[in-house]
Amino acid sequence: MLALTHCTLIDGSGGPPIPDTDVLLDGDAILRVGHGLPLPPGAQALDLTGKFLLPGFIDAHTHLGSSADLKRPPVAGRFVTYDYAQHREQALEWGVTTVRSAGDYMPDVLEVRDLAEQGALRSPRILAAGKVFQADGGHPGFSVYFGDPDILEHVCILVREDTDLEGEVAALARAGADWVKIFLSDDNKMKYPCTVPKLTIPQVERIVRAAHANGLSVMCHVDDATDLEQALTAGVDTIEHVINVATQDHTFAPALLERLADSDTWVAPTMVATKLHDGSIPGAPPVWPALHKAVGQMIQAGVKLGVGCDSGIPFVPYGECVHMEMELLRDAGMSELQAIAAATGGNASMLKRAEQFGTVRPGLAADLVVLGSDPLQDIRNTRDIRLVLRAGQIVFDRLI
Ligand SMILES: [Zn+2]
Repeated sequence: MLALTHCTLIDGSGGPPIPDTDVLLDGDAILRVGHGLPLPPGAQALDLTGKFLLPGFIDAHTHLGSSADLKRPPVAGRFVTYDYAQHREQALEWGVTTVRSAGDYMPDVLEVRDLAEQGALRSPRILAAGKVFQADGGHPGFSVYFGDPDILEHVCILVREDTDLEGEVAALARAGADWVKIFLSDDNKMKYPCTVPKLTIPQVERIVRAAHANGLSVMCHVDDATDLEQALTAGVDTIEHVINVATQDHTFAPALLERLADSDTWVAPTMVATKLHDGSIPGAPPVWPALHKAVGQMIQAGVKLGVGCDSGIPFVPYGECVHMEMELLRDAGMSELQAIAAATGGNASMLKRAEQFGTVRPGLAADLVVLGSDPLQDIRNTRDIRLVLRAGQIVFDRLI
């Protein structure tokens, strides 16, 4: 049994830090949390005096098989690229113990997820959307994936007027997908100005209904306020991106922010991806200032915000990007404590797994990060990672 003793606990709930706290682990789970806990005989104590214990971070929007290398395919299966392996390691090094795949090869990503779950791989926990729903001819299959037949076959469900949407959702559920991903956008991410086909609202509503009937939740890619309003109306569970590169529609009406705040829908604004991609499409106007402003308005309005990075795509450094996203949320108006809660307990709630992981309390997964300096003094101290545990196992150790 491992006991982490005398740490300052920041438990991921958004509550204040708790000094001189002990955390007892039992296998892959947290057994007890408290002050001055008696150690069971044979327990191995790790004195963390002066250090800070947090839940492992969560990246709610990632692509395990995408590549930072522009010479490789924009997304690939696990047997044709080293990106899966590299990304798993980078996540753990940066204290990221759970990721949600927002579009990857099937069945590869589900196989890796299962191996990770069994403890057969050094890996963060993976939750995975299966093949993504998109309009035939639209984004991403016919923009960033260049219409590549292999990618279209393994990553995309191309929606046409006569597509059996309910049957496709049921097939994803049978295959074991954790989430359903929808693209709701008419922007071409490779050319500006250029529009591509977009799903209709009734199509999105049918997919959402079918997903919920199968016990699956829906994440929805949007590129601007119009898409976002439509996604909200269709009842999706999480909205991804908000204002993305190569779009023209930059303003948010206060009424839309209010509706969003009053809804059950969460938003992962993937600020780091938009910031790093801003200006990369010839002729497209900069959108980063508008996104920064919109996220500030969302924080003010009380919109439920999660942390996702679009990690894996070019320019977005895997693992580290979670820390960049927390820094950007801090800059947009969150406190350090709120930004940390967003990346841990908040993200677990967004992913509907708050009873499984994301905060430090008895019964939850022992996915933990130890920091050498106080992240509430400076959010950049979340990078001062000394120890990472995934399911009770030490997977990264820089304590000494
Ligand atoms: Zn993405």
